[in-house]
Amino acid sequence: MDAVWQSQRNELFARWQEIYDLTGIAALLSWDQSTYMPVGGGSVRGRQLALLERLAHERRTDPAIGRLLDVLQPYAESLPADADDVAQLRVMRKIYERSTRVPAAFAAEFAEHTANSYMAWVAARPQDDFAAVRPYLQKTLDMSRQLAEFFPGCAHIADPLIDFADEGMTVATIRPLFEELRQALTPLVATISQRPPVNDSFLHRHYPKLQQIAFGEPIIRAFGYDFARGRQDETHHPFMTKFAHDDVRITTRIDEYDLGNALFSTMHEAGHALYEQGIDAAYASTALDTGASAGVHESQSRLWENIVGRSRRFWEHYFPALQAAFPEQLADVDVEAFHRAVNRVKPSLIRTEADEVTYNLHVIIRFGLELELLEGKLTIDDLPEAWRARYHENLGVYAPDDRDGVMQDVHWFGGPIGGSFQGYALGNIMASQFYAAALAAHPEIEDEIGAGRFATLHTWLRENIYCHGARYTAQELLTRVTGQPLTLAPYLTYLRTKYSAIYGPL
Ligand code: ZN
Repeated sequence: MDAVWQSQRNELFARWQEIYDLTGIAALLSWDQSTYMPVGGGSVRGRQLALLERLAHERRTDPAIGRLLDVLQPYAESLPADADDVAQLRVMRKIYERSTRVPAAFAAEFAEHTANSYMAWVAARPQDDFAAVRPYLQKTLDMSRQLAEFFPGCAHIADPLIDFADEGMTVATIRPLFEELRQALTPLVATISQRPPVNDSFLHRHYPKLQQIAFGEPIIRAFGYDFARGRQDETHHPFMTKFAHDDVRITTRIDEYDLGNALFSTMHEAGHALYEQGIDAAYASTALDTGASAGVHESQSRLWENIVGRSRRFWEHYFPALQAAFPEQLADVDVEAFHRAVNRVKPSLIRTEADEVTYNLHVIIRFGLELELLEGKLTIDDLPEAWRARYHENLGVYAPDDRDGVMQDVHWFGGPIGGSFQGYALGNIMASQFYAAALAAHPEIEDEIGAGRFATLHTWLRENIYCHGARYTAQELLTRVTGQPLTLAPYLTYLRTKYSAIYGPL
């Protein structure tokens, strides 16, 4: 490499590492806010996060970054198209250009506002007090619109917000896909609802907290989650977070009267963490040291949680151990009854606890409401009722309060309105596509799952998806790994096959 390019490249990477570290420090403060921070820390924590966001924003938008990217353009063009540095420069340029559109004062105000809004939501939700969060939500909507308007020229106001999370996706591509999905799922839900219901009452016996944690941890260790580079703590709303390449943490929520809650959220967040922990060490502290998109990330959490963790083979191996951990609670239950129970399909109010068949309808409802809010067709005042109506129409259930209605999800109270939900459904679709490709390469994976071994699957995912970090967009990755762009068919086949085995032919 040319000596001038070498020094410019080193300067750019050194500057980017500071941005990476500021982001990691902010993630640490947010993690603390959700786990161990006393209530008293709340007001100053918002200010601290705003300061970090301002510092990171200043560095991301420093004209020196733009100059370095320009100077290094001929260097990138001199490299083979698949060189690491080509991807590094592409991703840094994308973030630089996106960040320079948003004024620093706005970014800081939005970070402080969302931190305060999150604290208000934590206090208001148990009280079912929508009035207390209403002004925060109104400001979030106003600021989300402003944020979108910094990116003129998009076909839909939500497009830039969607692009932040799922690069390359737009309202125009997602709307028809979701409509096709909705039309496939609604009759499936209706048919299953006619079949004899599955009994899952034994999941709601008393399962002491410490035994639940003791059962879940070895499972994610077997998946490949590295506790030397991570840890698990408790929170209201489970999440995965990353402070550095070798510090990738997860949180879980434990309900002593709902065995599935912590168990599956642990596997879910571990799936996100396996992705981050599996990124090539050569990308540590760079722009590529993160997942490809929200959708690809969710494909990994859902793959481990549902395709692996709720499969019959998985429980053939783990059920005896579960029964040994909870001998009284599960004395009258066998593996078949347990597998059916953890896959029970029942339209309900809560997205994070929804079964796989109804889950996407929760996402499609939120996505539709977000678009209407941003389009100005729906007001915040009318949102709680619109939420209830949409649930009634699509799932046949009616939220008796706002706690389990419009206030159930953290996203609109801890970030912008727009762009934060579509990735969940995209992830489900991609998970089946990726898993089908893994099985085609290694048909022995299912037998191994039945023996409590996950190394072949984990290694395939690491070598084909995880190691690349943010190097490819979701569409590039899908095409590269599965030979096809995003496609619904493997997902619908997966659902029909799995649920026909539980409920009879579908
Ligand atoms: Zn997730």
